Amino acid sequence: MFIGHLPAGYLWTRLLLRRYESANGANHHYRCYFGLGLLGSVLPDLDLVYFYVIDRQQHLHHGYWTHLPVFWLGAFSVSLAVSGLLRSRVLAVASIALISNVLLHLLLDTVVGKIRWLYPWTATDFVLFEVAAKYDWWVWNFVLHWSFLLELGLLAWAAAVLVTVRKKAGHAVDGAQ
Ligand SMILES: [Zn+2]
Repeated sequence: MFIGHLPAGYLWTRLLLRRYESANGANHHYRCYFGLGLLGSVLPDLDLVYFYVIDRQQHLHHGYWTHLPVFWLGAFSVSLAVSGLLRSRVLAVASIALISNVLLHLLLDTVVGKIRWLYPWTATDFVLFEVAAKYDWWVWNFVLHWSFLLELGLLAWAAAVLVTVRKKAGHAVDGAQ
């Protein structure tokens, strides 16, 4: 997935934090949680820097630990345990916002990418739809595949929600004046 992660993360994070928004408005914590959610939605793909600069495209970047569900599920468990020990609701919500978005990223990558959901038990790549290598530049294989419509749909959906939210916020400011 190329352009769908951030819009999907935006939509998911809005849903996840809906309760906080209505309870607290757009306060500092809410903004931090939201920022972490958006960061989580693209975080695994930061491994592309390693892929191009250090690994020199020797291995599929979906095979790195940054794209392994077992790593993130482990991190999730540890962060929730630490939150419980410290009785920190802030840390718990921050962890949920960040790592649920990472897991959503991996789920969306499974549509046409390859994710090792059962690693370390098996290194089998799980993918819903295989993309045929038709073009010289591999990016075209994905952009011209029907699944790219899903990405465009996510982008349009998130843009529509964003515009509605902005309009509502504008009306609220106008009403307060
Ligand atoms: Zn990815």
